[in-house]
Amino acid sequence: MSFDSCDCFLVFLGILQRENMQIEETVFYFAYFLSTGIFTRVLIHYAIAKVVGPLFYGRGFCGWGCYTAALLEWLPIKENKTIPKNLTYIRIPVLIISLLVPFILIKLGYDYYNRHIYSPIDGAFIETHKWDQFIWFLAGYISYYIIGIILAFAYKKKRAFCKIFCPVSLVMKLPSRFSLVKIKPSGNKCIKCGKCNEVCPMDVNVQKYIENGQKVLSTECIFCRNCIHKCPVKAIK
Ligand code: SF4
Ligand code: SF4
Ligand code: SF4
Repeated sequence: MSFDSCDCFLVFLGILQRENMQIEETVFYFAYFLSTGIFTRVLIHYAIAKVVGPLFYGRGFCGWGCYTAALLEWLPIKENKTIPKNLTYIRIPVLIISLLVPFILIKLGYDYYNRHIYSPIDGAFIETHKWDQFIWFLAGYISYYIIGIILAFAYKKKRAFCKIFCPVSLVMKLPSRFSLVKIKPSGNKCIKCGKCNEVCPMDVNVQKYIENGQKVLSTECIFCRNCIHKCPVKAIK
């Protein structure tokens, strides 16, 4: 991944628009939608990229659209070690905490509603309050990047954050199970060299699926296509 659409997304939405599209904001806006019927663009982004989109293109967002991963992909790490399975469960409590954050803050007295809400009157954010979203955006991404960089070097894998910590990955796993598009075998050409598994950033056992003539059903697949490019006999498409 290079400086591309996802980095532009980060600059445009986060910095220029000062809009926080992280999971905590989405949860808050979802609750707001349930009580008012107003559907904001934070929800549109989430619905397209993380819930409805994965029904069609699986976790393609993770492979091509995520600005957290885009920056982590720049790290100077050559190895692609496998993350121990038990560490991948850390994502569950992280997701639960993320879902609860807005409600915990409201309970603690933070005026989330007035400081974050999209104004239904003039269709724009109340300017002074947009800074709250910007601060959340910065705090969220700075912490994600710090954790992501530490995990990447500790586990010698650029995508260690995706495997161990990212709560959003769990949100996408269910719809991506039913994705219309999947990585699949191209004929019966596999020579069992194992190169596809070596380059998979998400530790999918691609070889097993391809050897068995199956589509890659793992919901960890992010459609990066590394396996396709690396296969010496073009056994994957
Ligand atoms: S798992 Fe999370 S951090 Fe990784 S690419 Fe997907 S959304 Fe981005
Ligand atoms: S290497 Fe292949 S199986 Fe692994 S995430 Fe990328 S596309 Fe999916
Ligand atoms: S890289 Fe290709 S040939 Fe090698 S194990 Fe994977 S699918 Fe089989």
